[in-house]
Amino acid sequence: MGAITLVKHEKHSSLEEDATASPAPCRPRVARICLPVPLYRAFDYSVPDTALEAGPAPVVGGRVAVRFAHRPMVGICTALDPADAYDEPSPIEHAVDAEPLLDTHHLALATWLADYYHYPLGEVLAAMIPAEARKGGATVIALETAWRIRPDQAAIVQRAIREESAASLGLGRAKQQFALLQTLNENGPLSRAAIAELGYSAAVLRALAATDWVETLSWRPKSMPPPAEPALQLTDEQATAVAAIRGGLGQFGAFLLDGVTGSGKTEVYLRALHSALADGGQALVLVPEIGLTPQTVRRVQARFSDVVALHSAMNDAERWQAWLKCAQGDARILIGTRSACFAAFADLRMIIVDEEHDPSFKQQDGLRYSARDFAVVRARQEGIPVVLGSATPSLESLHNAAQGRYSTLTLRERPGAAELPKLRLLDIRGHTLEEGISPQLTHVIRRHLADGGQVLTFINRRGFAPTLMCPQCGWIADCRDCDARMTLHARPEHLRCHHCGARRPPARSCEGCGHEELVPVGQGTQRAEQGLAELFPDTPVLRIDRDVTRSQRQLTAQLDAVLEGGPMILVGTQMLAKGHHFPNVTLVAVLGADGGFFSADFRAPERMAQTIMQVAGRAGRAERAGEVWIQTYQPEHPLLQRLVKSGYAEFAQSELRARAAAEMPPTRPMALIRADAIHPEEGMTFLRSLKSRLAGVEAYGPAPAPIQRISNRFRHQLMVLADDRRSLRRALLGVRDQSAPRNVRWSIDVDPYDSF
Ligand code: ADP
Ligand code: ZN
Ligand code: ZN
Repeated sequence: MGAITLVKHEKHSSLEEDATASPAPCRPRVARICLPVPLYRAFDYSVPDTALEAGPAPVVGGRVAVRFAHRPMVGICTALDPADAYDEPSPIEHAVDAEPLLDTHHLALATWLADYYHYPLGEVLAAMIPAEARKGGATVIALETAWRIRPDQAAIVQRAIREESAASLGLGRAKQQFALLQTLNENGPLSRAAIAELGYSAAVLRALAATDWVETLSWRPKSMPPPAEPALQLTDEQATAVAAIRGGLGQFGAFLLDGVTGSGKTEVYLRALHSALADGGQALVLVPEIGLTPQTVRRVQARFSDVVALHSAMNDAERWQAWLKCAQGDARILIGTRSACFAAFADLRMIIVDEEHDPSFKQQDGLRYSARDFAVVRARQEGIPVVLGSATPSLESLHNAAQGRYSTLTLRERPGAAELPKLRLLDIRGHTLEEGISPQLTHVIRRHLADGGQVLTFINRRGFAPTLMCPQCGWIADCRDCDARMTLHARPEHLRCHHCGARRPPARSCEGCGHEELVPVGQGTQRAEQGLAELFPDTPVLRIDRDVTRSQRQLTAQLDAVLEGGPMILVGTQMLAKGHHFPNVTLVAVLGADGGFFSADFRAPERMAQTIMQVAGRAGRAERAGEVWIQTYQPEHPLLQRLVKSGYAEFAQSELRARAAAEMPPTRPMALIRADAIHPEEGMTFLRSLKSRLAGVEAYGPAPAPIQRISNRFRHQLMVLADDRRSLRRALLGVRDQSAPRNVRWSIDVDPYDSF
C-alpha cells in the first residue's frame, strides 16, 4: 500500500459531513440509510409514528429495518434530516438500535474503505459487522451461570478456610470440593468454563453445588486473571524493540518488527500489550489463521485475562457475542483473523498484525480489502501504535519502511541456545528419486531420526499427485469445466479440481488413445506421506494439510502430538510454515521448490522465498541445532542462490529493485479489473469499454487470465498502474459505476495480491 490518507469522499457516501451537518433532533423526519446493495449511493427514508411506536428513534451509526424493492433489509443510518433529502421518501419499518452500533470513527473508516477499494458504502458497512448484526440481532451480552459462596454462609465458610478445617463444613474427605470453595472465596463468582479451566472436574462442581455452601447466579462472564508465567529475560534486541513501541504509546506510529523466525516476536508483542493496557483499554491482535496457530492464542491467553477470539470456526451467535464484548469493553484483547480488524472497540489502544506478509490478510472476493493495510489506517485514525511483525516482511511493508512511513525494529538473533539453521541446496538433477525423495535426503532424514529429532518435509501441493497422465500419448486428466488439470487424491481414489471443486473417479483408460495404464505425475502430500512411510516403516508419519485438518480439534491434536512426541516425520503444505513452534524439529526438507520461480505472477518469487524461509524457520528452534535441505532441479537459479546465500533481507532488497525497475508495486500502485462471462468475447468487450474510459493511468490488456476458464466462465483482466494513489483513485472513480451486460460479472481489486 502506498501513502495512507483518509481521502475526502463524494456526496452520498459522505458520512462525517452529513453527520455533523445535522445535529440529531429528538424526532428525526428523514433517515439516510446505507443498504447492502451494489449501488454507490444511500437511500432516504421517512420516520413515521408507527416506526417510533415499534422501536427507538433512529440514530447515526445505528441499524434500521426498512423495505427495499419489497424485501426486508437492515441498513445503517448515516445521517438524519439531511439538507438534500428526497421529497417523498418511503417509511422505515423501525430502528433497531437506540445507541449507535458504529461510532463516528468507525463510520469514517467505512467511508475510507468504500473509497479506497471502490466498493459501495452500504456493502462495506454490512461487511464490517457480524452476520448476526446484519440480521438485526439484539446488542445484549448473554448471561452465563456462575457459582459463588452463599452470602449468608460466607462467615462460616471463611472461618473453615482460615482454620483449614474442611471437616467443619462436612467436606473432610472431599479435598477437591474444599479447594474449589477456597478458589471461589479468593476470586468471587466463577463460570463453569472458568472452573473447568482451573482443573476442577464437573463431578467436583456438581458435588459442591449440592451442598449448602454455594449457589448459582446469572452474570456477565469474565475470564480469570491469568496464571503467572515465568518472566523471561528479554534479549537486548527484544528490549530495544519493546522500548521503542512503549515510547510511541498514545499516538499513531507504525512499527515493522522484522525478526527472524524464532527470535521471540511474540514476547515483544506481549510486553508491548502489557504497556499499552497498563491503565485499561483494549488491543487488537490479528493473526493469519487461528486454526493453524492455536499456540499464539494460548500464549496471549496465558498472559492476559479477558481475551476473546474471533475466527471462522465460530458460529454466528458466538461471533456476535465476541463482537459485543469488544464493543462494550468486556474484552480486553481481541485476537482474530482478517475480519476482526473491523470489530468495534470501546477503547482501542494498540493493534498488532502477526505474520503481516501472510496472503490470508487480503480478502479475495467481495470487499477486497487488506486487513494489514486497514490496520495501519485504523491505527492512524484512532491515534494509536500498530505493530506489523514478520520474519519475511512483505515488499510493501519494506517499501513503506524505506519511505520512512514505518519504523523498523530488528531481531536478528534467536534467544538462548537456539541457532538459525543453515540452508542447503540439494541438486537432484540426474538422481533417481524414490517417491520424490532423493537417496541423499533419505540418508539425512535417517541420521536426524536416529539422533532423536523430528523431521518436517514440505511440499506445496496437497493430494496424491498433481495429475494423471497417459504415458503413451501424453493425455492429461483435465477438469471439464476449467482450463486446469485435475489433482489425483488417494483414499478414496478420485480426481479433484482445485479450482472449481469438481470430483470424479479416476479414469481407467486414456481418453485419447485408450491405453490402460495411466500414471500419476508429480508429488503431492499424500504421495510423499506414502513414500516416507515405506522408506521409514518404523517411524510415525503425520500429514498436516487442509484435507486432514478440516477440524480444529483434529489439528490441535496433531500439533500436540508433534510437541510431545519423539522421532517422527511430518509432511505438510504451507500450513506447516505458519508460525508454529516445534522445538523437536531438527531437519526441514523442502521436497520441491522450483514451481514458484517460474510463475507469470510478479509476486511469485516473493511468495516462494517467504514460504521457504518460514518453513526453514521451523528447524532448530530449541537447544538442538537445525538443518534445512532444499531439493531442486535448478540449483543455479539466481533467485534461489541469493536467498540461500544472502538470506531473505537481501533477497527482498533485490526484488524491490527489480520491482522498481519494472515500475510495478510497491513502486507504483496497481489495480486489477477482472471480468468473467459465459462467452469469452463478452468480458473482453466490456473490459475494452472500461479501458477507453480510464484516464491518467496506464492500462494493460484486457487479456485472458492465466487460467482462462473456471467453472465454465471465461475470465479476463485489465491491469491498471498509476504514478500515484490519487490518479489511480480518480481513474477508477470514472469506471466503477459502469454497468456491465447481464451475463458479465466484474470487479475492481485495488492492491491485488494475485495478479490473476
Ligand atoms: P517468533 O514468533 O519470532 O518466531 P517466538 O516468539 O515463538 O518466535 O519465540 C521462540 C521461542 O523463544 C519461544 O519458545 C519463546 O518462548 C522463546 N523466547 C522468546 N523470547 C525469549 C527470551 N528473551 N529468552 C528466552 N527464550 C525466549
Ligand atoms: Zn493416451
Ligand atoms: Zn474445475
